[in-house]
Amino acid sequence: MYGQMMHQPLLISSLLRHAERHHSEQWIVSRRVEGDIHRYTYKDMAARARQLAQALQRLGLTPGQRVASLAWNSYRHLELYYGASGSGLVLHTLNPRLHPDQMAWIAQDADAQVLCFDLTFLPLLEGAAHQFSHIRHFVLMTDRAHMPQHTSLPHLLCYEDLLAAETGLYDWPLLDEQAASSLCYTSGTTGNPKGVLYSHRSTVLHSLASALPDAFNLSARDAILPVVPMFHVNAWGLPYSACMVGAKLVFPGPALDGKSLYELFEAEGVTMAAGVPTVWQGLLHHVQSQQLRFSTMKRTVIGGSACPPVMINTFEEQYGVQVIHAWGMTELSPMGTVCTLKNEQQGWPLEQRRAIQNKQGRSIFGIDMKIINAEGEELPWDGVTAGELMVSGHWVVDSYIHGQHSATVADRQGRSWFPTGDVATIDPQGFMNITDRSKDVIKSGGEWISSIDLENIAMSHPAVAMAACIAARHPKWDERPLLLVSIKPGAELDKDTLLAFYGDKIAKWWTPDDVIFIDAIPLGATGKMLKHRLREQYQNHLID
Ligand code: ADP
Repeated sequence: MYGQMMHQPLLISSLLRHAERHHSEQWIVSRRVEGDIHRYTYKDMAARARQLAQALQRLGLTPGQRVASLAWNSYRHLELYYGASGSGLVLHTLNPRLHPDQMAWIAQDADAQVLCFDLTFLPLLEGAAHQFSHIRHFVLMTDRAHMPQHTSLPHLLCYEDLLAAETGLYDWPLLDEQAASSLCYTSGTTGNPKGVLYSHRSTVLHSLASALPDAFNLSARDAILPVVPMFHVNAWGLPYSACMVGAKLVFPGPALDGKSLYELFEAEGVTMAAGVPTVWQGLLHHVQSQQLRFSTMKRTVIGGSACPPVMINTFEEQYGVQVIHAWGMTELSPMGTVCTLKNEQQGWPLEQRRAIQNKQGRSIFGIDMKIINAEGEELPWDGVTAGELMVSGHWVVDSYIHGQHSATVADRQGRSWFPTGDVATIDPQGFMNITDRSKDVIKSGGEWISSIDLENIAMSHPAVAMAACIAARHPKWDERPLLLVSIKPGAELDKDTLLAFYGDKIAKWWTPDDVIFIDAIPLGATGKMLKHRLREQYQNHLID
């Protein structure tokens, strides 16, 4: 017997329809590439998204075809999120921080037909146009006044002209909820990047779950500023979940320095933000050096790489801003676990609470996880035993684009699990702690040393700006930890002082064998440390 409830497909357009009907006067504020601040409402955005859908149709695109974007966080990019996906096209967000060769490879692999881009990227695309020869239409996301007089890009179209030519009288199509809605590529730290095709259903379910109080705790009373780029796993789904709850959205455009972000936080009454740890370092440096306070900011989601405990302490103790440490991946849309305390933990002493908060968190309904050993056997949740982290859920990848690679493995019961490539422990309360990515693990004399733990301790030294710990080859132990450190401007630090700082914070044999001071730790396209580059350069340091 079937239940007799309405069946409505979970569609991205339904998020927009809700926001337009029930939060029509809510604001969307953007710092534009052109330099000024732009503001309009969800009602305005919805009308323009419909015009955009019409314009894309007029360009000859048919359902399922890919529309690429190369853009900062701003209202026009948001219109693409809804106009392209809502009309049955697939929005393919390109990361502008990648090398042009890699970007072109990705756009070609995705078979993108149209490329919409911000003014910032005009020179980049002009220089690399021959690599994007498969693109039928280049659309510059600006108005007529900012269009270039001359350009080498063929048939360059003006975004605002395209919209102005349309009526906006358009009904969002009733799509299959399993239809592809958007496409992101993994950053390819191991081999070529792989495309993850999200569906309308996975996106809407991810939005519902990420808005929950134990996740990002989003509501119509929030003003959300996603610092995490809309080209980095859909800004962690915030452009969708904000619409779902009717929150104000504040977009920083290309200005991601501490000063610009702080000004926007204060001017727009931002209550919630999200980004990778490296971005928050810049912001904290600015507020600390200028002795500023946050007047409206309540919480920030930090993820993408391990959040140093010192950052959690500083935000919470000095600024009264709650840090929500979260873990995720492109393959998980991206939310996997979120670190919010359970009821009984709230009363724990500070140090014990912090020990939990430093972990990557627990599952929200919709995601299950387990850790396994090399034989595929499930390991205990004792908070100590580490194994490869496997996940399963409604918004987890099944196979990569073109179906070449199945992304999952089946267990004995036939249930699919995605191997994350992360090494983790899970404690009896279900809190997961990433100790390493499997390729970053340091295996000394057959025993694992957590590079993240060693980095976190180094980062808590007041003179350290950033620290990366890598496995260096060792004649006796196979691998030993080698610490690379950049220090804060004006600070002084030597190797012995830093190594002494580890003191009894770790087992003696975990102490790094050497410390190398470098000007800057190399960062990748999403602001994460490029440890493979450090390994290439320094892995023989202990045997040379
Ligand atoms: P990439 O593989 O390009 O880094 P993602 O952006 O999808 O792609 O990153 C996923 C990886 O980032 C995870 O597998 C994990 O190693 C790391 N990561 C994400 N969040 C955290 C976190 N809070 N703590 C530690 N590592 C994290």
